[in-house]
Amino acid sequence: MKESQVDILIIGAGPAGLFLATQLAKLKIDVRIIDKQAHRVLRGHADGLQCRTMEVFAALGLKSRFDDEAHECAEVVIYSPNDSGDGIKETDRLVDTLPGTSHVKHVNLGQDRVEAIFIDAMQKFNNVEVERLLQPVDLQVDRQKLDDSSSFPISVTVQTLPPPEQLGNGDVQSGLYRSNLFATEQPHEADRGAQEVIRCRYVVGCDGARSWVRRQLGLELQGDSSNVYWGAFDAIIKTDLPSIRMKLCQVTICWNRYHCTSRGRPCPRLYPDGRSSSGGARQP
Ligand SMILES: Cc1cc2nc3c(=O)[nH]c(=O)nc-3n(C[C@H](O)[C@H](O)[C@H](O)COP(=O)(O)OP(=O)(O)OC[C@H]3O[C@@H](n4cnc5c(N)ncnc54)[C@H](O)[C@@H]3O)c2cc1C
Repeated sequence: MKESQVDILIIGAGPAGLFLATQLAKLKIDVRIIDKQAHRVLRGHADGLQCRTMEVFAALGLKSRFDDEAHECAEVVIYSPNDSGDGIKETDRLVDTLPGTSHVKHVNLGQDRVEAIFIDAMQKFNNVEVERLLQPVDLQVDRQKLDDSSSFPISVTVQTLPPPEQLGNGDVQSGLYRSNLFATEQPHEADRGAQEVIRCRYVVGCDGARSWVRRQLGLELQGDSSNVYWGAFDAIIKTDLPSIRMKLCQVTICWNRYHCTSRGRPCPRLYPDGRSSSGGARQP
């Protein structure tokens, strides 16, 4: 079986893993980043970047990339049902972020573009690239060597996965073919490919809400979870609403929140109101 060494192995190339890899690449630290998906997120997911997040991106030297692409959220416009109940009217207009909070603005940019910016930046900083279709199947920690800074005490066995088209269901998009929400415990027979043992000083689990790494280490999720249901969809809308490029709230009784995504794409995002329930088991 192939064996290799790296200082830091990041498992998962979502926003968390890509951000860390970019930062380590900038510092010229030896890092590898793997992901079981064939490609990055291509649509949907997150699109709001708070000003504190933008401050950190600016510190990485990436602010101009976001300035070029992101949609600035300066104001929130509140619409409510009108008096006759057959339409809506503007009832308030607020600043999105309290003045003085930050020297940078809260912006919207689709997660697909955010991930693309990081993938590009880490390549430019230190030639780091996401190694895709790789999934960890075993993690061992040699605890006796943990204090020895010259050692590589962690061994992660990873295996190559076949691309979607090889399974004959290439039309099924990421997330359905191989969910990024569920850690694969028992790979499908067809998923069994070549294996490699990666020895590292640190392994970082950036593999999402149902982290495989966290379970290997027997760690519990810290914090709370809640059952809040809401939808999100990006749509091309024909409208003469004057503030369509702003963040809108309560556009109608049905749509609780509504705001635009990036400047580059005239494709606003609608957030239909969700139901919430307290208590009970968290839904898968
Ligand atoms: C519709 C929608 C709207 C959202 N809006 C916002 C928003 O406005 N602002 C905001 O901050 N957040 C938002 N979020 C949440 C945001 O998308 C997530 O918080 C974010 O993606 C989490 O990043 P992550 O890197 O921790 O995990 P993930 O994005 O889940 O990435 C985990 C990565 O690890 C990989 N992986 C998982 N298991 C393994 C494994 N066993 N082996 C190898 N790789 C593995 C996955 O393929 C994936 O690429 C939204 C989410 C959705 C769905």
